[in-house]
Amino acid sequence: MSEEMPAGRRKVRVVVLGGGTAGWMTAAGIAKLLPDLADVALVESEDIGIVGVGEATLPHIRGFVETLGIDEAAFMKATHATYKLGIDFRDFGRIGESYIHPFGSFGEELRGVSFHHYWLELQRQGLARPLGDYSLAVAAAQANRFRPPAQDTSLASTYGYAYQFDATLFGPFIREFGLSIGVERHEGKVTSLDRDSADGDVTALVLEDGRRIEGDLFVDCSGFRSLLLGQELKEEWEDWTHWLPCDRAAAMPCSHVTDDIRPYTTATAMPAGWRWQIPLQHRMGNGYVFSSAQISEEEACEAIMGAAEGEPLADPRILRFRPGRRRHSWSHNVIGVGLASGFLEPLESTSIYLAQMAITYLIELFPQDGAIDPRDRAEFNRLVDMEYDRVRDFLILHYHATTRDDSEFWNHVRTMTVPDSLADKLELWRKAARIEKYSDGLFYDASWIAVYVGQGMLPERHDTRPALGNPQQLAQATERLREAVLREVGAMPNHREYLRGEAARL
Ligand code: FAD
Repeated sequence: MSEEMPAGRRKVRVVVLGGGTAGWMTAAGIAKLLPDLADVALVESEDIGIVGVGEATLPHIRGFVETLGIDEAAFMKATHATYKLGIDFRDFGRIGESYIHPFGSFGEELRGVSFHHYWLELQRQGLARPLGDYSLAVAAAQANRFRPPAQDTSLASTYGYAYQFDATLFGPFIREFGLSIGVERHEGKVTSLDRDSADGDVTALVLEDGRRIEGDLFVDCSGFRSLLLGQELKEEWEDWTHWLPCDRAAAMPCSHVTDDIRPYTTATAMPAGWRWQIPLQHRMGNGYVFSSAQISEEEACEAIMGAAEGEPLADPRILRFRPGRRRHSWSHNVIGVGLASGFLEPLESTSIYLAQMAITYLIELFPQDGAIDPRDRAEFNRLVDMEYDRVRDFLILHYHATTRDDSEFWNHVRTMTVPDSLADKLELWRKAARIEKYSDGLFYDASWIAVYVGQGMLPERHDTRPALGNPQQLAQATERLREAVLREVGAMPNHREYLRGEAARL
């Protein structure tokens, strides 16, 4: 029992299986935020290694870095990270067309009516510029400029940012941090488990050399193996391949081609999937996410070698996965976080976010006096399911909202039946330009609007109020907004210059 604890209470012994991004984020998060409630041990095997991809993130990651008390500039330097203002989607709606999904809003609400209704009215009158012209994040990304948003309510505060980092450096960085705040690390391969004969809970991980790591709560971060949740507890897998047919990736890092570093990720649609370009400080990450039902691994490797800009820094590496999630992420006293609980392809860089949210929910619902309340477990599963389902729907939208008919892959995704939850959202948009409101979780209005409009899915009608005003005044007001956006962007430093300045500050 820990000395600081009141008599009769002891800390919960948390054992994390796996030392990838998910494992170290979990261990560091719990050790940092629940120091009086939990002792944290982590088991990892260097022989098995980590998946080692996952370079693009969402703005939420900043909250995690901040909560841990990590200095952003030091973190960015250690992981060779760049800033990310959004994702540039190319050829998704139609070949030759592109749009940026920004981490930020388009215009601003006026008299209780969302900006996109004004834009749709201008569009109807043939007076609209591209929607992205009214977003500071889009304009800054297009100009390769960056600076953090203002902390006020001005136009300069209307965007957010995330990081693009070297995944092989992020894990070790968080590991160092975790060790420094008391996470106990065990190196070795788990070969079996001990379980309580009465309730079936896991009581210890048994390593190859016979060591036993005992615990009260086990977090399965063993990656695609899902050793505890999948293999041992046989938690059912919900397969989403019929909606998200990509099940492989060919990843290949390259050198940079120009001195400029783009502050955004690029996703370019391909005949059997799409390919990413993620600019880091020292290299460009490239990969082709594809459906193995349509092309072979060899064909995908050839395609990525042909498409990648810059000098290859390694041969293409194939990663295999299945889209979907475990029916329950928390079963008995085992919680799956990261790839062990589910996987959705990296089209919107959501995997690390999903791990982060699972950690946040676990901390909120942590069994404070050691005993797991089944209601907390059920709530955790409800929240994690909600996150997965919303991400799934948003990803499917990128495939389904297309006019492409140039390959079997695109014909399938364009014509497939989508989940009911997405069908409802599509109907809401098509009929009235409305977006389902979320108070938490991903993704907010601007994200859906970016994809709908960017991929050419315009609604049948929109709010009538913008049409009641003077059209000339509306056009002038939006033009003033555009000018203000350009002024803000003009005052921002070049992305690479900004990175250099931050590194020099250390
Ligand atoms: P892993 O990294 O696989 O770690 C598993 C750990 O478990 C390892 O330490 C391993 O040694 C340990 N382990 C397993 N079995 C045992 C055992 N028997 N004994 C002891 N230890 C064991 N996410 C994003 O957010 N953005 C992206 O851009 C992105 N791109 C991706 C691209 C691809 C192609 C893929 C496949 C994934 C991508 N992801 C992305 C997802 C991201 O890589 C993962 O979410 C993240 O790395 C977390 O992985 P993990 O820690 O769950 O698993």
